[in-house]
Amino acid sequence: MSRKDAPITLGFHGAARTVTGSRYQLIAGGRRTVIDCGLFQGLKQLRELNWREPPFPAHEVDRVLLTHAHIDHIGMVPRLVRNGFRGPIHCTRSTLELARLLLLDSAEIHEEDARYANKKGYSKHKPAKPLYTVEDAKRAIKQLEKVDFGQWLDVGGGVQARWHGAGHILGAASIELEIEDPRSAGRTGTLLMSGDIGRYGMPLHLDPAPRPAAQVIVCESTYGDRDHDHELPVEEQLRQPIARCIERGGTVLIPAFAVGRSQQLTLVLRRLMTGGQLPQVPIHIDSPMAVDATEIYSRHLDEHHVDADVFADGRGVLFPDNVELCRSVSQSKALNDLPGPRIIISASGMLTAGRVVHHLRRLVGDRKNLIFLAGYQAPGTRGRDLLEGAPTVRMFGQDVAVRAECQSVRGLSAHGDRGELMRWLRSHDQAPRQVYLTHGEPDAAFQLAQRIERDLDWRVAVPELDEVVALEGMLFQQ
Ligand SMILES: [Zn+2]
Repeated sequence: MSRKDAPITLGFHGAARTVTGSRYQLIAGGRRTVIDCGLFQGLKQLRELNWREPPFPAHEVDRVLLTHAHIDHIGMVPRLVRNGFRGPIHCTRSTLELARLLLLDSAEIHEEDARYANKKGYSKHKPAKPLYTVEDAKRAIKQLEKVDFGQWLDVGGGVQARWHGAGHILGAASIELEIEDPRSAGRTGTLLMSGDIGRYGMPLHLDPAPRPAAQVIVCESTYGDRDHDHELPVEEQLRQPIARCIERGGTVLIPAFAVGRSQQLTLVLRRLMTGGQLPQVPIHIDSPMAVDATEIYSRHLDEHHVDADVFADGRGVLFPDNVELCRSVSQSKALNDLPGPRIIISASGMLTAGRVVHHLRRLVGDRKNLIFLAGYQAPGTRGRDLLEGAPTVRMFGQDVAVRAECQSVRGLSAHGDRGELMRWLRSHDQAPRQVYLTHGEPDAAFQLAQRIERDLDWRVAVPELDEVVALEGMLFQQ
């Protein structure tokens, strides 16, 4: 088949009717471009999808484009490399730096899980193998190549790509793909991949940039069924329960993603303390990755809302004097002997793994303490169980009674709510011919679809996993 006749297709190979595992394949001009290559996270049936090989051979992929560094968007890149992918992986400068950190960490977790499964003998595979290794991650990191926001990149096959700020976390972008019509010289159509759209007017992160014109938009829908409009400001949601906990001498445990959320929380807590709205108590950031991520944030001052001078000593606003950074395991363990009141921020954000689980085991059984959930909690995670009021939570093979106060802060999420997704979609006045909603539970995706159809009268579909659509008719219609 000549290039002229080869169809231009987009395959939805992840984050279809679920929130994680973002992975798309664009075939144009005979070239295969994978956009995001994320890990499925949460329930076991989702995690098992990570073991399923994608319906395209890794060595035939020409290149990978990444929207941002969250592991549900990049966490399968080392697997793709393990399976033979040798092409370039393009992403923004700050995404590249965060990706180095996150991919190595992810590989260590997979190696550790495999070792643990072998020790306990519970794996189906004998011996249990990691999804990928630290070596695979290091190889993937060597394939990363940086692009600047707003610059066109020729990705081959008649496709040019350009990254636009999406807010969300440092370096996050939507990717505009301008595709040539193989049958008509000079005519192009645009496919826009939203990536994850952040919130407007948040501490630390920039607002999403207005979107470019596009004939086809693939948009996330994580909070497509929710509006945060009527909620208390984040500061107030945090202040009341934390003040109560400090008053009774308890410890506040905030499970938080190391990248973005930890920095945002520290910034807000520091404002509350310096403004006299909360007593000054020690804040411990117990996560080597959060410490490293903050250093990366400090190197990209033009990409977020914090003034340059605050980082003069590498601490500044994000790490004021009452913030202790715990990089080593011994520093983390030393926290066990310290009485309240104090605040511990530790990863992971959904209590699935990491140091925070040890803190949870120690703190969850005492009424004095407060567990503060900040952000999306996927079904099947300990964070979701606590959010739903579970009487016990399972850790290290034991059920531990939940006596601590459990609260959640809404609206600190890195994802725009329904109103903000609609605002981003409307930020260019040219209507697309087709919108595909991904990266959302079915309820969220279908409710957002209804809203778009009702308010904007655009065509919307919610694709299924591995659905492949032909784009020419939509991109190049007269
Ligand atoms: Zn994300």
